Amino acid sequence: MQTVEVTTAASLEVSGVELAFGTNKVLRGVDLQVPTGRTACVIGPSGSGKSTLLRAINRLLEPDAGDIRLAGESVLTGNPDDLRRRIGMVFQHFNLFPHKSVLENVTLPLRKLKKLDPDQARAAALGQLELVGLSQKAAARPGNLSGGQQQRVAIARALAMEPEVMLFDEATSALDPELVKGVLALMADLARTGMTMVVVTHEMGFAREVADQVAFMDHGVVVESGVPEQVFTAAESPRLRQFLSQVL
Ligand code: ADP
Ligand code: MG
Repeated sequence: MQTVEVTTAASLEVSGVELAFGTNKVLRGVDLQVPTGRTACVIGPSGSGKSTLLRAINRLLEPDAGDIRLAGESVLTGNPDDLRRRIGMVFQHFNLFPHKSVLENVTLPLRKLKKLDPDQARAAALGQLELVGLSQKAAARPGNLSGGQQQRVAIARALAMEPEVMLFDEATSALDPELVKGVLALMADLARTGMTMVVVTHEMGFAREVADQVAFMDHGVVVESGVPEQVFTAAESPRLRQFLSQVL
């Protein structure tokens, strides 16, 4: 990826967010502050609420309490489509449309959400595919790409929208081991260009090297957070120390 400064990035603040599925309280007062251009990695055991948190930030789910602010303004009022234009999300399983070409996958949200005309959308999409090294695959179907290439298309699709924040939910967990590095490298480049990012990951090496801040979630709250050095070498909470002893 060529190094370009991201000019659209904004700050993200999650405060006191609660969310339940029926009687299952999954988020129990989550706080997370990500300054403009910084990367927060969210780590924690399966079922601790990490995916639910990202979905709440993107308003795929509505919190029961608390607030989420983008560039200082609450995102909980207003049109969710407006918000999804401003926050890009990358999922474990890519979520590309299998019967559309790579190019169409990237142009679709530009047409639907950004209301670009076909030529503008095509130009923006090709430019973004070029940046992730996949312009030669524009006409291919996603199924003919490797998992790593598909995930780079999904990242290009999100970036083409010029988002203010990027959310990654275990973006490399479904990839064959030899494909993980390329996707992590792209994410690291993006972090360096000044994007604001929230990265849910099991890749502790990535969290250690790329994150400005690491937040450990357990049972629906951020139990501890800090710079990687602090979290990985001087964890205070017993739960975090136990978690790290299992994953490192
Ligand atoms: P993580 O991403 O940390 O593994 P999740 O946020 O996916 O955790 O899940 C946290 C809890 O919320 C789990 O108990 C899970 O079963 C529950 N949950 C997640 N999504 C739903 C849903 N759509 N409906 C009901 N329960 C859900
Ligand atoms: Mg999850």
